[in-house]
Amino acid sequence: MLEVSNLSVSYGGPDVLSGVSLEVKAGETVAVLGANTAGKTTLLRTVSGLIPKARGNVVFENSPLLGRPAHSIPKLGIGHVPEGRHVFPRMSTMDNLMMGAYGDRRATDLGARVDRVLTLFPRLAERRTQMAGSMSGGEQQMVAIGRALMGNPKLLLLDEPSHGLAPIVVEELHRAIGEINRQGVSVLLVEQNAILALSVAHRGYVLEAGHVVLSGTSQSLKADPGVRRAYLGV
Ligand code: ATP
Repeated sequence: MLEVSNLSVSYGGPDVLSGVSLEVKAGETVAVLGANTAGKTTLLRTVSGLIPKARGNVVFENSPLLGRPAHSIPKLGIGHVPEGRHVFPRMSTMDNLMMGAYGDRRATDLGARVDRVLTLFPRLAERRTQMAGSMSGGEQQMVAIGRALMGNPKLLLLDEPSHGLAPIVVEELHRAIGEINRQGVSVLLVEQNAILALSVAHRGYVLEAGHVVLSGTSQSLKADPGVRRAYLGV
């Protein structure tokens, strides 16, 4: 579904991503683990067309993505939940969700899309009219994921959804990511929280200083001594 081959990116200095290759098959949840500055956010931003000077190949369902304008990427079926969530703080939950369907505003199934999000995150149903800026970090993350789902993506890019959140909220998000995947959406999940990532993903890649240094099933990564030491604190 998504194939990244030999991707290199620099912001003007040395490469931040260097010869990265990875894939997400239809129906999979794939995790990308890595410490700060490994290049995880840059990888997702490149797939979303937000990094103009990338070299290599990124192909989504036979469409090459590099060089495409960012606004054309959601129409292909890719939703992006950015690091830091970036909800619209002075807009309600419902208005934030509707912004996610902006490109499809004439779609006839918007009510069903909203129902799907509110079923996934019942907390948002209780807060339909609350300004997103006044919500907790976890609730804002739910709004950000819900907003991306409103575009009906086939592939969801999630950037550090658990960042800064209490364990109980992380648990709730974990359940929701599993459910989204069971509904048929493929997921590329970037996380520093390796325990969360490997418990929800089928497979994973470890990114270090812009290189993929290890990949495998979540089970094999969980058992890898280097991953256990560096990312699982074992
Ligand atoms: P984090 O978890 O801290 O966000 P990350 O793995 O997502 O880390 P990136 O955000 O992709 O890493 O950053 C990788 C490297 O690229 C870092 O050294 C960062 O300083 C650099 N970088 C990111 N964005 C820019 C930019 N717009 N201009 C210049 N350098 C950048």
